[in-house]
Amino acid sequence: MADFKDITGHEQIVKSLKESIKNNMVSHAYIFCGLKGSGKKLVADAFAKVLNCRNMQNEEGCGKCHSCIQFESRNNPDVFYVKATKTKSISVDDIREQVIEKVKTKPYSYNYKIFIIDKADTLTVQAQNALLKTLEEPPKYVVIMLLSQSMESFLPTVLSRCVVMKLRPISAHKIKEYMIKLGFNETNARFYSQYCGGSIGEAIRLSKDEDFYTMRQDVINCLIKLDSLDTASVMLMAKDIEKYKLYPELFDIMYMFYRDVLCYKVLKDEERIIEKDKTEDIKKQAKLLDEKAVSKRLEAILNVKKQIKQNTPFQLSAEVLFINMKEN
Ligand SMILES: [Zn+2]
Repeated sequence: MADFKDITGHEQIVKSLKESIKNNMVSHAYIFCGLKGSGKKLVADAFAKVLNCRNMQNEEGCGKCHSCIQFESRNNPDVFYVKATKTKSISVDDIREQVIEKVKTKPYSYNYKIFIIDKADTLTVQAQNALLKTLEEPPKYVVIMLLSQSMESFLPTVLSRCVVMKLRPISAHKIKEYMIKLGFNETNARFYSQYCGGSIGEAIRLSKDEDFYTMRQDVINCLIKLDSLDTASVMLMAKDIEKYKLYPELFDIMYMFYRDVLCYKVLKDEERIIEKDKTEDIKKQAKLLDEKAVSKRLEAILNVKKQIKQNTPFQLSAEVLFINMKEN
């Protein structure tokens, strides 16, 4: 389980949480908002650990006291992970049973009673209203942390009583360094860091997803074949990749491939190629296509990403994309 010092990125958030501890200004309610895998749980856990640590050092949990040890084994009697129990949403009953009932009594052993509510964007309106009373008049020993992928589902009354901290995407470079520390080789670390949208959790998830790997192979093979196919075959290819339409990275893969082609064409430096395992294919494409054609392909891919967002049917968009790319 992470301490503040182990968290990659989010420096401002960590700094401000540490300051609040140092200055005795800890709030009663926080919203940590960030995409899936962005590190919300790590930040909340590190914060919870230090808040109840009995031997805090430089605003870090000591890892040795009774509280830290209990926390590490998920047995700290004053830290509660609130979950939906009956449906996918966190209901008013969940909040009553798992928060409101428990808030009434003082912490068992430590300074704070801490409630970490993951997937807080699934709190129903009734559940939020139930929580509101605690947010309005929190006992001094209560800290509530709401972890959420977006802000839209929160009632304004809830939002106004929470300190909101937004976890920004982490740079690909930092993610790469972090993955190398975890034991990934440089090539893989660099590769997944480019596809994860700034989220370490997502980078790690992708690295374990064999379907992602197969999809990428297929998509890049399509691009390699593209110029040798007639229109009918291109249409078939567009139909064939429809099976990957739920992968948000699909067009990023195409973009990254031509980005490497362009980069190699201009700089003639193999070192700058991100998709190292495709180096030979990238060099071949760089020979085959002129600079203008590659730029146009990149532009066409960006356009199709926009169209898909506006709900243009996938297969149609893919057909138009391939045909446009072939014409260039
Ligand atoms: Zn401790």
